[in-house]
Amino acid sequence: MTSVDMKHYSMLIGGSPVDTERRREIVDPSTGATVATVAHGDAGHVDAAVAAARAAFDAGVWRHRTPQERAAVMRRIVAAANEIADELVELEMSANGATVRQATGFHVGYALAHFAYFADLAETYAWQRPAPITTFPALGQAVVHREPIGVVGAIAPWNFPLLLTLWKVGPALAAGNSVVVKPDEHTPLSILEFARIAEANGLPPGVLNVVTGDGPEVGARLASHPDVGKIAFTGSTAVGREIMRLASGTVKEVTLELGGKGPSIVLDDADLDLAVDGVLYGCFVYSGQICESGTRALVPADLHDDFVERLVTRAATIVQGPTRDWDTDMGPVINARQQARILDHIRGAVDEGAEVALGGEALDEPGFWVTPTILTGVRNDMRIAREEVFGPVLAVIPYRDDDDAVRIANDSEYGLAASIWSSDNFRALELAARIDCGSVWINDAHQINCQVPFGGFKQSGVGRELGPDALDAYTEAKAVHLDLSGGRDSKPYDILLSHADE
Ligand code: NAD
Repeated sequence: MTSVDMKHYSMLIGGSPVDTERRREIVDPSTGATVATVAHGDAGHVDAAVAAARAAFDAGVWRHRTPQERAAVMRRIVAAANEIADELVELEMSANGATVRQATGFHVGYALAHFAYFADLAETYAWQRPAPITTFPALGQAVVHREPIGVVGAIAPWNFPLLLTLWKVGPALAAGNSVVVKPDEHTPLSILEFARIAEANGLPPGVLNVVTGDGPEVGARLASHPDVGKIAFTGSTAVGREIMRLASGTVKEVTLELGGKGPSIVLDDADLDLAVDGVLYGCFVYSGQICESGTRALVPADLHDDFVERLVTRAATIVQGPTRDWDTDMGPVINARQQARILDHIRGAVDEGAEVALGGEALDEPGFWVTPTILTGVRNDMRIAREEVFGPVLAVIPYRDDDDAVRIANDSEYGLAASIWSSDNFRALELAARIDCGSVWINDAHQINCQVPFGGFKQSGVGRELGPDALDAYTEAKAVHLDLSGGRDSKPYDILLSHADE
């Protein structure tokens, strides 16, 4: 595959391409070369997109279709997107530096499969739920309707641009909402292309809008816009706090998927070959730029030296190279700023007493490269063990016994995901119950099953994405009460009107 031809991308507002004089360059992190330009919107574009989304919502062009009709359009969109899956893969890779293996499977494959899952959910979701007629006949009958919220704002990060956008757009559209998406500045291409495909395949104009631009202007306007009823955000915890603050002005619903500092807990009965490769996969895939990565390896003190030796031997085989080469195992990091930040974290860890068992370097190549890095001598109170690095850096921390492992695992402001490696399922399940995380994988890592909720405890987020309940987060509950008794005998009107018939 070759790099995308230099092409310019407009925003999509109210069904029309909208351009700006100001343009932002999209840079391939694996080469440092500019691959495309994109319109650079501002707060005024957000206002226009929200107005278009609101108009489409009020006109009922999407929300008044049956769930089956919405599902049919969503499936048509998936089929059309699958036709150009290679192009979507290229657009993802060229902007965020994922390897072709990673981008094909996770970035685009999962994104479209998960969007299709939300089409299926639209057909099986209980849109109307009669309340049980039980011991309170005087209360009449009630039916709970799940109704779309209105305009949903979706703010996406750069690491999985299409996937994490469709985790929001999928349930939002399945429920009949209109959406305004704000992609990350680095990675709007695949999202813009998907929105174009959606419109060409039956999504009415204005139902899905994409505004590109800076977070503090475009994102902040979306998060505070009075006509936006819900904000769904994936990104850093720091920006998540700001989104929550901005959304509070008009008391919006919020879903936040934020950072993590995942523990990979290796128990003393683990299959060590499996655990070594699993810990490496959990940390280094996509250069560690996954919020649920296992970046702290908790290893029994007795096994520590042997385990580290095995980790280093296996990690040294990870091939970094051209992202479009199917032989490449690991690509670059997103940009120069992030590369410098990762190296600063490594230096800081060494200053605090850690040792570099492997890597710790930038590659002297065009693009933004950091080698797979394994640090030993790490204590859980060191900065490297507390802050999210978002790079290929594994911190190995020894522990004494299971209680000590649980204590270290939970000693974090984050609580997104954890792995447990053990040959005893019951022991691992007991331990899983003690870990304060939204996902726990036993003998696995990075397992994202769209049928179960994903999200974080503590400062890793608010609410959950995916799973059958995801639609709850994109709907309001309306209880409609109907008195079927036909008379006034059972009514408590006498509380107020006891003298009216005297
Ligand atoms: P980020 O928080 O810097 O940016 C995310 C998005 O927010 C971008 O679109 C950005 O433009 C926008 N933004 C920035 N400032 C804003 C503001 N003031 N108001 C509104 N929007 C604003 O995060 P990132 O660098 O894109 O992504 C990396 C982070 O995301 C990591 O911390 C990672 O852990 C987290 N992440 C979490 C999950 C999850 O599911 N929990 C998934 C992926 C990434």
